[in-house]
Amino acid sequence: MTALEAAIGVVYLGAAACFVLGLHLMNAPPTARRGNALSAGGMGAALLATLVLVVAQGTGPTAWAVIAAGTAIGAGGGLLAALRVRMTAMPQLVSLFNAVGGGAAALIGGFEFGARSDPGAAVAAVIALDVVIGSVAFSGSLVAAGKLDGRLPGRPVLLPARAVLTALLALAAAAGTVLVAAGAGGPAPLAVAAAAALLLGVVGVLAIGGADMPVVVSLLNACTGLAVAMAGFALDNSMMVIAGALVGASGAILTKLMADAMNRPLSAVVAGGFGTGDGGPAVGGGGDVQRIGADDAAIRLAYASRVVMVPGYGLAAAQAQHELRELADLLAGRGVRVDYAVHPVAGRMPGHMNVLLAEAKVPYERMKEMEQANPDFPRTDVALVVGANDVTNPAARRPGTAISGMPILDVDKAETVIVIKRSLGHGYAGIDNELYTAPGTRMLLGDAKEALASLTAAVKALVG
Ligand code: NDP
Repeated sequence: MTALEAAIGVVYLGAAACFVLGLHLMNAPPTARRGNALSAGGMGAALLATLVLVVAQGTGPTAWAVIAAGTAIGAGGGLLAALRVRMTAMPQLVSLFNAVGGGAAALIGGFEFGARSDPGAAVAAVIALDVVIGSVAFSGSLVAAGKLDGRLPGRPVLLPARAVLTALLALAAAAGTVLVAAGAGGPAPLAVAAAAALLLGVVGVLAIGGADMPVVVSLLNACTGLAVAMAGFALDNSMMVIAGALVGASGAILTKLMADAMNRPLSAVVAGGFGTGDGGPAVGGGGDVQRIGADDAAIRLAYASRVVMVPGYGLAAAQAQHELRELADLLAGRGVRVDYAVHPVAGRMPGHMNVLLAEAKVPYERMKEMEQANPDFPRTDVALVVGANDVTNPAARRPGTAISGMPILDVDKAETVIVIKRSLGHGYAGIDNELYTAPGTRMLLGDAKEALASLTAAVKALVG
């Protein structure tokens, strides 16, 4: 090993330490930004070290032009997309980035296979697995992004003879992998395996409903990590092995946590066919629904001693987090105890609500996880539900509904529940919410941002 290679190895080790420490810091909202910056710093250092290695290898002008163009398009496009994305469109952006990662890992595998005259059975097998898993992650993530973005139908698309088709594609991918490992047939088996894997990603993810998409994105993210780690083995690059393993492991853990929080076995998610995926139509007015105006709602809030804010996807869609915090501050200024109850899958991706509330400078100690918040609802005067639907639906407590068994926020146990949303329409799971007809519930129909602003104005007018 040359001195340069040793130095680069040390930089890679430092970068790996940054990734691990960064992940640890992302555990808690107050340190998450630092964790992100540390991980990005580690990745920057690893990239620079790799560039130095490329220079030392005496790379020609054509290769430099390719590297420069790739960096400009990749980094420029990524930066622009990340700067422009709305918080509500974050899941599809994550999915698109994941597709790029999976596709890149598969391309590296394909290139490495072509560049080696005799890779040996072990490396050939790793390359084939890298290409297969990376291809599934690429096409599957593109379909998932299309569903999340509304460009593809959110409902499960079940192709005719899907089970047979899936089995045949899986068989073709496996047979191609075995032939590549055995060194038979040249590049053709690898091409067949890659094509089958690409189709497998499309057929598999098309069949899954939009409501399950973030779990699928997380699962495909774990696949990308695995593919990158395998590409690292093939290239003998320790940085790729470590980074890929970390992505694979954290993606797998996140997938399990999300599936648990939605009470959906992962096997059921992957099998597909669940949910409409698209928001359901407005349900009938229902005679038992009681409405409330901003002035009456303001009286209940201003004279409460304990209020719990319950944000959901609608708050994110309306970008009403600042208005929510303003109202909470106004009430807290009057001596009302105000907390925020955050369901683990409120919104459209894990941590969605925590990030939004943190952006609006809600104190971290006021954000309560579901387990912390639920025992407090029976002692709560008003639960103010803002654009949250499924995560508050008591139907989850009994069997036979689309969300049966999903842990919910027990808002119906508060003395009064005020729900802000635009209509009596469904949430993501596409079912009626029994909370809306409960005796203690009052519906304040309107856009979250406008309704919260009028509530704040009404509380100010009330208390002078
Ligand atoms: P829901 O999707 O259940 O409900 C959101 C509600 O917000 C809708 O009923 C809608 O009603 C209302 N809304 C939309 N826009 C506005 C607006 N501008 N102003 C006021 N209200 C608005 O969201 P929840 O957060 O309660 O539940 C999350 C759902 O997403 C769950 O089903 C969960 O399983 C699913 N999910 C979450 C994941 C995660 O990781 N976070 C992962 C996968 C799925 P209306 O149209 O009447 O206004």
